Amino acid sequence: MNCTDFKSEIFNLLLDLASPANATVRAHIESCADCDREFKSMKATFALLDTWKAPDPSPYFDQKLAVRLREEKELAPAGWVERLKARFLFNTGRQFRPALAGGLALILLVGGGTVANLTGFPHSAPETSATVQDLQILDKNEQTFQTMDQLLQDDSPADDATAPPTS
Ligand SMILES: [Zn+2]
Repeated sequence: MNCTDFKSEIFNLLLDLASPANATVRAHIESCADCDREFKSMKATFALLDTWKAPDPSPYFDQKLAVRLREEKELAPAGWVERLKARFLFNTGRQFRPALAGGLALILLVGGGTVANLTGFPHSAPETSATVQDLQILDKNEQTFQTMDQLLQDDSPADDATAPPTS
């Protein structure tokens, strides 16, 4: 074993993992200044990680959240359905698109190759891998988005001007 091998074995020592090399690594650390330094530095890092805890939220977090919730509740009777509808109607362009794309990406991630069957890329073509198929689907989606954009632009030329004021 050279020093590089020992350094990868040091993790086993740090994590208290049983490894047949542990005794050899221990012996080497005692005789090699370089590996000893590495071991001590990693040990310090691990100790630091042990003491780390997630920071508490700011002291006014609860109050601020309560205020925001109350505000939203007071706004709700003004018709959240209408506001939601307006959002979908007028923001279908730029703002809604990332969400749609994100959703599709998520479906692809979750479904992987199996979704390919649903979207018109049957597995009957064995020469194309699942990744290639996914990329083809993304490409097809991009074309769909472009078509949608064109349709939306044709239907409502004053897309942004007609958007209701957001409170
Ligand atoms: Zn060494």
